[in-house]
Amino acid sequence: MKTLHKCPKCSSRLEMKGENIQVCNVCKYWTEAGTARLDSITILE
Ligand SMILES: [Zn+2]
Repeated sequence: MKTLHKCPKCSSRLEMKGENIQVCNVCKYWTEAGTARLDSITILE
């Protein structure tokens, strides 16, 4: 499975949330592990 080690937006370390969601605590970028859609950025409120 392909996962990101760094946030593509701010280069901070990504943390796993749940089974396969990676979240950046700095800018709130998140992505599904295994998909890593760099062009689809969603902001968590
Ligand atoms: Zn970030």
